[in-house]
Amino acid sequence: MVNTIEHTESQVWQLLSTVNDPEVPVLSIVDLGIVRNVSVHNAESITVTITPTYSGCPAMDVISMQIRLVLLEYGFKEVKVEKVLSPAWTTDWMSESGKEKLKAYGIAPPLPKQTVCKPDEFQEEEAIQCPHCLSYHTRLISRFGSTACKALYQCQDCKEPFDYFKCH
Ligand SMILES: [Zn+2]
Repeated sequence: MVNTIEHTESQVWQLLSTVNDPEVPVLSIVDLGIVRNVSVHNAESITVTITPTYSGCPAMDVISMQIRLVLLEYGFKEVKVEKVLSPAWTTDWMSESGKEKLKAYGIAPPLPKQTVCKPDEFQEEEAIQCPHCLSYHTRLISRFGSTACKALYQCQDCKEPFDYFKCH
């Protein structure tokens, strides 16, 4: 006999990958790495564990509601969405395809921190790449972009402003 619970869990992951982040509609919550665990208890009951990208991110309530909706539609009667804050979400959990999609959307994806050498100090700085011309010659305009989860940057080369996804 087929292990139906395992079978259902993989279908649930498929369903969840159709739930998009309300802030960045090209990214699913699976791309973002928000969904930490799916646990099917039986044919009627399921628990989905999510970790918010940013504490107090208002998008999380919308996301929980969307998870509930797709799973109720799928046939579950009891859908629990649990939020786990620790360990904290990091941009490392974002899938490679998610980072590519962000770039295609015109938002600079989060990058590992790079150490840059300044005249008399060593300072950790994030090197943010322009999603339009791929230049690293960019500067921070505002810590808050179009939403609290994004910062506004401007490229010094092509002069285009762009959002940087800094949700963490
Ligand atoms: Zn540019």
